[in-house]
Amino acid sequence: MGRSLAVQLKSVRAQLYRERLENRRRNELFSSAIRTNDLREVGAQLYRYFFEYFDVNRGDITILTDYDEREFFDRVGWMPRRRLPSISWYRSQAEGHSAYLKGLVEEQIFIGYTAESEKIIRESLFIEASMLECMITKRPRIVNSVVRELSMEEIAQARHQETRSWMNWTVLHPDNSKVLAKMHMSFNKPRQPALKELARRLLPFADLLRYRILHTRDFRRAKYLSERDVLTGFYLRPIIVKRWERFVEAAGHGRRGGVISVAMLDLDFFKRFNDRYGHDVGDAVLKRFALAVQATVRVSDVVGRYGGEEFVALFPGANSDAVRSILQRVHDSIQDTDVLLASARSRGSIPERLRFSAGIFTLRVRPGSPLPSFDEAVKAADDLLLRCKESGRNCCAFYGRSRAVRRYRFD
Ligand code: GH3
Ligand code: MG
Ligand code: MG
Repeated sequence: MGRSLAVQLKSVRAQLYRERLENRRRNELFSSAIRTNDLREVGAQLYRYFFEYFDVNRGDITILTDYDEREFFDRVGWMPRRRLPSISWYRSQAEGHSAYLKGLVEEQIFIGYTAESEKIIRESLFIEASMLECMITKRPRIVNSVVRELSMEEIAQARHQETRSWMNWTVLHPDNSKVLAKMHMSFNKPRQPALKELARRLLPFADLLRYRILHTRDFRRAKYLSERDVLTGFYLRPIIVKRWERFVEAAGHGRRGGVISVAMLDLDFFKRFNDRYGHDVGDAVLKRFALAVQATVRVSDVVGRYGGEEFVALFPGANSDAVRSILQRVHDSIQDTDVLLASARSRGSIPERLRFSAGIFTLRVRPGSPLPSFDEAVKAADDLLLRCKESGRNCCAFYGRSRAVRRYRFD
């Protein structure tokens, strides 16, 4: 009797010791994760922790920072309130959900997978189906044994991935219970009782991840708002100036130097939109134009809102001809658009066409030569814009060979 008590005590002590160790490790993880601003790094730390304590052989942490729940439910359809959908329903929805996730691919962080296994996981509809279930019920979804839960075809797929069991779980927003992140972790053996325990231990990490995601989101939002114009989403002037400096500096580094173009864009007769249909329609027109520009320029190009309906765009590495053809495409994408809002239309107004003019100033930055200032470049582009306005609008102007002004009409 006494002996068995001693054995029990020993095992309790060992258990306490393990828990203390784990707590210490967890606290370390917490404090370092709170210090770092990088969600990916937080994910990597979580993964290391699980690797150490739970014998995870493979696992990914998928973090969707701007998961649009409304769109999600639009896609998965009506969510029954009383009776939960059947597994076959989740399976039938998985494909659409998977397509939606592909659109969010940049927001997803995979940790602990090779590129090949990551690809397989992305395409595993049975994992997707159980993730869907997890997101709708907002409870951890534990699959203890693929053999018991999957179809023959899925079992074959799971075997191929060496997946025997897995767990999905969601991190919810503290105020509105929206899904902030989802996590998936898989194992190469069935883990009947241990998975429930794992889910319990995951709870503090859900808190950590929640905190980090919200913090990152606030940080991003604040940065966005401080750099951009609210209406169009284009950069504010100080940011454009900084980008300009960076671009000309980079262009001056090459052996032969580099070329950069600045375009000043101004909407034609824009006041009319305001005067005829009101400021709200004017704003909608501006937004429509901004969208067309944003969809046409390359990611390396930078667009700013210079003034009311004037925009400045920087095109590193592009000459006037290249910029001209980009602007022609902007023109093409807005020319057939009925820019009026439905409200204006119902007032019996006739559709108006949106046009713009642009001055394109291109310069070659030579190594060692003085770097042109932003103001000088913008002034040159603005002069060219004025030439367009004087000669009928709906065109762009730039310097051709021998510094002669050339005009190009959009049509
Ligand atoms: P032009 O072809 O010569 O450029 O004619 P325009 O009417 O476009 O030029 P003007 O400079 O006379 O008018 C610009 C108008 O843009 C005046 C101003 O009310 C309007 N505007 C500036 N910012 C905004 C804005 O944020 N929203 C709306 N709705 N209108 C704006
Ligand atoms: Mg104008
Ligand atoms: Mg103007």
